Amino acid sequence: MSAPATAPQDDFHREQFSWQLPAEGITIRIRWFGLCVGYVLVNLLGPVENRVELNAILTLGAVYALLDTIWSIRGQVFLRAAPLFISLMEAVFIGLLCHFDRGLESPFRFYYFLSLLVCAIRYAPSTTCMTFVLHATSFATLALSHGLNSSGDLTALVMMVIFMGWVTWASTALVTLLKTASFKLSNLNTELQNNQADLERRIAERTRELQESQALLVQQEKQAAFGLLAAGIAHEVGNPLAAISSLVQMMNRRELDDYMHEKLGLVDEQLRRIQRTLHELVDFSRPATNDVAVCDIHEVLDNALNIAKYYKRKKGKTIVTTYADGLSRVEIVRDRILQVFLNLILNAMDATGEGGKIEIRTRQRNGMLEIAVSDDGVGIDPQFHSRLFQPYFTTKATGTGLGLFVCRNIVQESGGDLELTETSSAGTTFTVTLPAFAPGGTSDPVVTTTSQEG
Ligand code: ADP
Repeated sequence: MSAPATAPQDDFHREQFSWQLPAEGITIRIRWFGLCVGYVLVNLLGPVENRVELNAILTLGAVYALLDTIWSIRGQVFLRAAPLFISLMEAVFIGLLCHFDRGLESPFRFYYFLSLLVCAIRYAPSTTCMTFVLHATSFATLALSHGLNSSGDLTALVMMVIFMGWVTWASTALVTLLKTASFKLSNLNTELQNNQADLERRIAERTRELQESQALLVQQEKQAAFGLLAAGIAHEVGNPLAAISSLVQMMNRRELDDYMHEKLGLVDEQLRRIQRTLHELVDFSRPATNDVAVCDIHEVLDNALNIAKYYKRKKGKTIVTTYADGLSRVEIVRDRILQVFLNLILNAMDATGEGGKIEIRTRQRNGMLEIAVSDDGVGIDPQFHSRLFQPYFTTKATGTGLGLFVCRNIVQESGGDLELTETSSAGTTFTVTLPAFAPGGTSDPVVTTTSQEG
């Protein structure tokens, strides 16, 4: 997902502020350096007449530089909102230093250049131009107060103003160039970060898709292998069973006593039962067809229940079906939807203990059939809810974690959905919705309830 777009002006203002703090750091260093040089000039180099006044002015400057430093350490800019006031103070400060020193000849006059440079670094070009005017005025006032005694003084004044203008122009041009480059660089960086995030998101998406299709493949392979195995067993066991069954029937046609007839009848009955089970097994595990057919959902559910009764954990559990009458039929790939219900029923059996109850309810609402599979089992921990339909999520020691994932895929392919509609320590309900093939079934159905106990 790309970062929300911001107005270019906002970006520029944010950029300006992020520029101001480092610029402030440079400014502070220039100020302290200037003050140190000033103290050396006044106190160590050569005879100076107004040493006390000059030290006092420098100390005022030092107090200001200290406040500036404290603000900067706190991540703020001192007097940020009043740049022209600062320029004015500096113009007065430098003017006074020159005045008490050697007037137009004072080395402190070079501070005007530093002040202009600092101003260009920190503020907009317009502020630097205003500062230039203030500094030029300050120097002109100094020249006038000391009297322009010779043409040399006038030349010094003019040259100084020209140099100040030159520094103003050069420094603002340079800083504008730097600011523009940094702004562009920062924009490129943001763009790069957004692209990287987008790339990561797409890789994650592709990886998930790959995992999901791999999971589906694994499930299909397993089912095919199981089908082959079941067909093999059915063949190997089915033939001798058929032979035994016809032998028993032949024997039963002979003249035997009642006791033998009864026992042979029982053997034959049990043999037929084994054959029936084998047929059901083969039926279920034959390669699934992908043919779409219009089916009665209750018939599919009954078929799933019929297979589920062989599950080892069926024992001691009651299955109740509450079917609504007059339900529309559904257009589905029958074998696949059967697999969905079987998986939900087996999960419900896994979740319930001895004496547990599983209920299957059907109804029709707004052109959709709703099939709810409920159990009074252990429920699902809330921390697992978001992962239930992800491939390979399982809490069972021998689970594959593919059941719900595959089921949801199948149901969604049929235009419906599979959801966890309820879960607590009192049990769980999963609901399958499927579009009704011929809308118009009653939404207030007559209910038929049946129950089978294991
Ligand atoms: P598997 O059955 O192989 O674990 P499923 O995708 O069918 O894979 O189920 C994933 C997990 O969802 C199960 O391991 C179980 O923790 C949870 N689950 C599914 N159905 C129920 C249910 N009716 N009651 C409690 N937990 C359930």
